[in-house]
Amino acid sequence: MRPPLRLAVAAASLLAALPLGAQTPAPAPAPAPAPAANPFAPVPIAPHPLAGPISAPYVRTTPPTDRVIQRIVEEGTARSDVARLAQALSDSVGPRLSGSPANLGASDWALAQYRAWGVPARRERYGTFAGWRRGVTHLDLLTPRVRTLEATTLAWSPGTGNRYLDGEVVALPDSTVAGGFDAWAAGHARGRFVLVSAPQRSCRSPQQWEEFGTPESRERERAAQDSVRQAWGARVRAAGPASVVSAGGSGGPGGLQERLRAAGALGVLTSTFSNYPGIDKIFGSPRQVLPTLDVSCEDYGLLARLAERGSRPRVRLFADGEALGEQPVYNTVAELRGREKPDEYVVLSAHFDSWDGASGATDNGTGTVVMMEAMRILKQVLPRPRRTILAGHWTGEEQGLNGSRAFTEDHPEVVRGLQALFNQDNGTGRIVNMSAGGLRGAGPALRRYLGEIPGEITRFIRFDDVGAPAAGGSDNASFACYGAPAFGLGSLSWDYGFTTWHTNRDTYDKLVMDDVRSNALLVAMLAYQASEDPQTMPRDRVDPLPVSPATGRPGTWPSCTKALRSTEGYRR
Ligand SMILES: [Zn+2]
Repeated sequence: MRPPLRLAVAAASLLAALPLGAQTPAPAPAPAPAPAANPFAPVPIAPHPLAGPISAPYVRTTPPTDRVIQRIVEEGTARSDVARLAQALSDSVGPRLSGSPANLGASDWALAQYRAWGVPARRERYGTFAGWRRGVTHLDLLTPRVRTLEATTLAWSPGTGNRYLDGEVVALPDSTVAGGFDAWAAGHARGRFVLVSAPQRSCRSPQQWEEFGTPESRERERAAQDSVRQAWGARVRAAGPASVVSAGGSGGPGGLQERLRAAGALGVLTSTFSNYPGIDKIFGSPRQVLPTLDVSCEDYGLLARLAERGSRPRVRLFADGEALGEQPVYNTVAELRGREKPDEYVVLSAHFDSWDGASGATDNGTGTVVMMEAMRILKQVLPRPRRTILAGHWTGEEQGLNGSRAFTEDHPEVVRGLQALFNQDNGTGRIVNMSAGGLRGAGPALRRYLGEIPGEITRFIRFDDVGAPAAGGSDNASFACYGAPAFGLGSLSWDYGFTTWHTNRDTYDKLVMDDVRSNALLVAMLAYQASEDPQTMPRDRVDPLPVSPATGRPGTWPSCTKALRSTEGYRR
């Protein structure tokens, strides 16, 4: 979910390496320099997780006998609504940046769906965040030749004030530039666009280099790209310590953008390659003060080469984004009220906000659709559940789990009465990974639930009886830190980390509808059983937690972090 690139890429590699251990990439603990992604980083290939069904006692080999589960299969198969929901959400509603009118419009859309299904739903305001409206953006190369460049304004980028801005493109100066950065800026930034990211020497995928490159050329390219990255890291650092916060080079007061603005620069051009031709990650920060764009790896490289070879490239930019000031932000919550234990809760959890570079189709449109479809099915087959079933569509996840954290603070009764929360947030793939989240007694209960579900749905699920509580990465962490039973449903990756996660290619066509449909059935069946369970979910903690392979030390129980309820205090 979070910007600093080196960490994002490390987390993404981790995801690729652990297709069964899927969560959204872990939160970044601290600001870090923002080097471009390393196209030579190996993409680990794990054994195919669907190579064969697993055999485990919780995978049924006979048809389900539970009448409600049979009806869930019928409702979610014969009358599945996931394709329609996913298409409308991805294509018509589009991305859902926190604080944007688009996010609010998306909430209206979700409320309308619930209304049509007869499921009560509401918006809950939890604070404010920087509002921003995306507008038309156009960036063209004018000289030495005309070309329309593939460029997208970063989220929260200022616009050009309804004007076309023409200017030369220059690179950040060498870190040893005579007189220092400000002297350079005074002489070279006025009326110009500044390249602030390290260019990629190659916009081919690491897989292509691995397959077609000679060992010698691979090694040469790797070394050459490393030195480009290091040199650009030094350039950004030389422009001030506050400059390295994000790929947009924002960083607030005293940061690179403020110094460039003071020197009269027109805009900032960045590029965050995501290891495939044409795929970039698109972040952004409310702290940007100049029009800030991501330019595709290919076109950014073109500009950088022209600038460095003295060809003096000129571009024309029109960017119609608009800052709207602090705007209210909301979670959208749907509810099927419990008939016997209304004060005990089953929560279906998936963040609703997204980044703004594409459609938010897999992050987290798919999780959203899975939870909505599960609620639609449950309303048909279990309109009066024993416990209350909530669907939590959280906002502000991408800026630090803010909506879900705020919900736990505003609804201690839900945390207290939580029977189970199921969260899904790593893309379109079939759920293949579940655990008891470090709660000793939850393992047997979840196994029991899985054992009632058709084997076609559970046959690839690796269930870990112990597991560990989520410490970050997605919204189940906001509940797990209280010791509440909040479980992550880990999807098969489909190369989420590089192909769609926060990229300009997170679009409807990447969805694997069979997997989304299956996930909605699974969630509906888990929710049904958690709701009707005669037993309360135990909360006894495994403490100390098992040894983490990453650190070699036993895991520790996470503590809760206060929700950020306005842009003030947001540091990225
Ligand atoms: Zn996400």
